[in-house]
Parts: sequence; structure tokens; C-alpha cells
Amino acid sequence: MEVDQDDNIDPEVVDAISSLGNSQRLQILLALGEEEREHHERRHTKTFTELYDAVDIESSSQFSYHLNQLVGQFVSETPTGYRLTYSGTKIVRVIRSGVYETTSSFEDREVSGACLFCDGTTLLATLDIDQFRIRCTSCDAILITDFCPQSQTRDRTTSEIIESYCYRIWSIYIQLRGGICPECFGPVDTVVSQYEHGGNVHHIHNSSCRECQFLVSMPVEVPVAFHPAVLSLFWNHGISILDVPLWVFYEYITSEVIEMEIVSDEPFEAHSTVTMDDESLSLRMDDSVTVTLEPCDRD
Ligand SMILES: [Zn+2]
Ligand SMILES: [Zn+2]
Repeated sequence: MEVDQDDNIDPEVVDAISSLGNSQRLQILLALGEEEREHHERRHTKTFTELYDAVDIESSSQFSYHLNQLVGQFVSETPTGYRLTYSGTKIVRVIRSGVYETTSSFEDREVSGACLFCDGTTLLATLDIDQFRIRCTSCDAILITDFCPQSQTRDRTTSEIIESYCYRIWSIYIQLRGGICPECFGPVDTVVSQYEHGGNVHHIHNSSCRECQFLVSMPVEVPVAFHPAVLSLFWNHGISILDVPLWVFYEYITSEVIEMEIVSDEPFEAHSTVTMDDESLSLRMDDSVTVTLEPCDRD
């Protein structure tokens, strides 16, 4: 991490970011990205001459100067030519996906699901500037909030945009499950926090990245649902959890399909029962978010 505790930024980071503030240098990055796209392979290189021909710069000395400003941080020089580094690839994807363009919005749309705080079932999906939200119309709680880049909305209908959050949220969770930051792949620490709303206390897992400080909150019931035995129980009753949006998943919490009993707050320990029709599973979750199946005591 290049930012120290006083938030003093390493001058190298400032130089690297400043080096991008030039359209010809961005053209060089895009030309290298184009190479990758055309050949459908990563790490394909372009020679100095090929790259020079692909970019609209008059003199080769000027081209050489701009290229050198990118070498190291965004472009790698190899014996066979130039290629994008990880950071260079990220910049190219950001430009291509239009992350810097303003996001469109859609008309508020009613979605099925349940509110964790008031058990209400009238939820609205909204998109304000670049924030996607699921809001409960009964108690006004914001149940889900996440960024919505232009690339996520373009070429998708409102229903498809909303549906895409189902998969985005679970993909974030799957990475957190392995202790991986969904943004920078750095290590993530997860702690249990209590969240109070409308007189009810809810337990949530707050995960934060040690590297980029990305923060995510998920209900503590989620890791229970992702235990293989629970996934299988749901599947045997016609439900594929990965295809259920988080706001619909909340119904399993409010309707007590997944029940949590907090055994201890310090260290955190919870007992959970998952019931589908006449089948039920008993599980235990500890401080480290490990979920273990317990022998079922039902007849
Ligand atoms: Zn509510
Ligand atoms: Zn991170």
C-alpha cells in the first residue's frame, strides 16, 4: 500500500496518475489493449514500430517520450515488445466500459422480497445517478446499496439491471468467503456487528479490506445458506440460492426458514436452524465465520 497512516501519498503514485492525463498516452494504452482483444490472448506484445503505427502521433521522438512515461507502471517492456501491466489493463477496461461517464437512471421498480427491519414486503429498486438501492416503502430502510457503473446499465432493460445485482452480490460474497477483496484481491477481515433499526437488533458481518479499505456488509445468515448441506436442502425444494437475489433471500430470514439464535456475542457464536417443509438442519457459526453442521435432533 502506497498510502501511509497520515494519508501522505507516495510521490510515485502522484506521478503515475499524472502520467495518464494525456490523450496520446491513453491512446497508447488502448492500442495495446486492442492487441490483446484481437489476438484473444493475454500478454500479447506489440513492437515499438507496430505501436507507433497504431497511434496518431506525428514524431517518433514524441511517441517515444509518451511511451516512456507509461513504462513501469502501466506498460511493460519485454524482449518481444510492449504489453499492458495489470494497472494498464485496469485503465483500459475503465476507459472502455465508460466508468467515467454519467450513469442513466430508471423508473423506480417494485421488486419482490422482504425487509429485514419491519418484515414489510413492498420493496422498490431505484437508481439515483450511480447508486443502485433496494428500499423498503413501509419503514424507508435502505436494504441494499451499491455503485452502478454505466457499463452495467447499457444494453440492459430495467429488469436485467436489477437481476444483474443478484449475481454481482453473490460474486462479492463468494470472494469474501475466501477472505479476498472483490476490488483489489487483498486480504479481508470480517467481524460481527450489531445494527439497530426500528427497535430490532440485527447481526451483520462487516468485511473490510486491509489494502484498499473496501467495505461490505452481509447478514450473518448468508454464510449459513452457503453451507453445502443448506444449498442442497434448498435445491431439493426447488430453490437455487445463487439465482435468488439477496432482497428475496431476506424472506427466508423474516419468514424464519433460516433462524439464528445468538449464543454469545463475545466471542460471537450462533446457532442456526434451517427448515424447509418437514426437513430441518442445525448449524453452528463461530467468530471466524466457520459454519458447521450439527447432528439433527429432530425425529
Ligand atoms: Zn421495512
Ligand atoms: Zn481491497
